[in-house]
Amino acid sequence: VFGPSPLPVLSPTAVSSASLAISLNYRLGATRLSINAKGKTLSYQLSHGYAPPRLSIRVPRGSFEGPLPVPCGETLNLAYRQEGESVLFEVGLPEGPFEVEEQKKNDAVTFLWKPQPRPKVLPLVVIDPGHGGMDPGAVGPTGLRESQVNLELALKLKDELKKLNVDSVLTRESDVFVDLAPRSTFAEGLNARMLVSLHCNSYPGSEATGAESYYRLDGSIPLAKTLHNALIEDLGRPDRGVRQARLYVLRSSLIPSALLETAFISNPNEEAILKDQEFQGQAAKAIAGGIWQYLFAPATPELTP
Ligand SMILES: [Zn+2]
Repeated sequence: VFGPSPLPVLSPTAVSSASLAISLNYRLGATRLSINAKGKTLSYQLSHGYAPPRLSIRVPRGSFEGPLPVPCGETLNLAYRQEGESVLFEVGLPEGPFEVEEQKKNDAVTFLWKPQPRPKVLPLVVIDPGHGGMDPGAVGPTGLRESQVNLELALKLKDELKKLNVDSVLTRESDVFVDLAPRSTFAEGLNARMLVSLHCNSYPGSEATGAESYYRLDGSIPLAKTLHNALIEDLGRPDRGVRQARLYVLRSSLIPSALLETAFISNPNEEAILKDQEFQGQAAKAIAGGIWQYLFAPATPELTP
């Protein structure tokens, strides 16, 4: 969360082609940030950040000499940084869902945002701890059952989502058997925003390591990628990639569905971390962050005019 002090401002050093001007104002409930390249073609990349919420705007081949406008409207702070030939502007936003509109001209762009009213019905996430009951899933070298790890992680994920104001329900809350079909139809019946199925990976031998994520239908790619990135970037798991597979639990064409395998229960080292409550807590936090990002701040594609 943003503190009261502004982000550090570093002095610009690079020589570059477009000298930029920036302005900020607040009118009719909307905050407007304009970047002007004063007659030169402006290219930029916009991305949304989470924890703390912010907009990042990178202008390649740009320079900025200040001054920054005083924060107003839905802006907590403003900072910039010259990074080689590009300049990066960061805009701190209050917590909550935002939608950012872009109005482009050849040499200028205006970003316009207002806080979205909080939906009356909170977005609902269905968390699916894989296996359970008579189906233990994979079993580790010391006898750790995948079904148990999946459930413990699912319960922690539910707690983390609650902190982010995201409602969730589990397809099972104890060590019981649930068939595959009802897990997906359950999510459809609730009109959930997503189904996140939690599993542990397993492979013959003890060497395999890392996190792997799956989707089945193309509409689920953004979800699978966002959650997988959270496992790699925030949790620091070795990256085995996002893959497509005809997994039955991911078959819904109505609800974006992804399956996450955080680690290999067949690898003694990874079995140990999967059992570790602290690791489970960190994994839950990372996945919850990814879910929040998918719901409220999806990445925008890179833009070049
Ligand atoms: Zn499994």
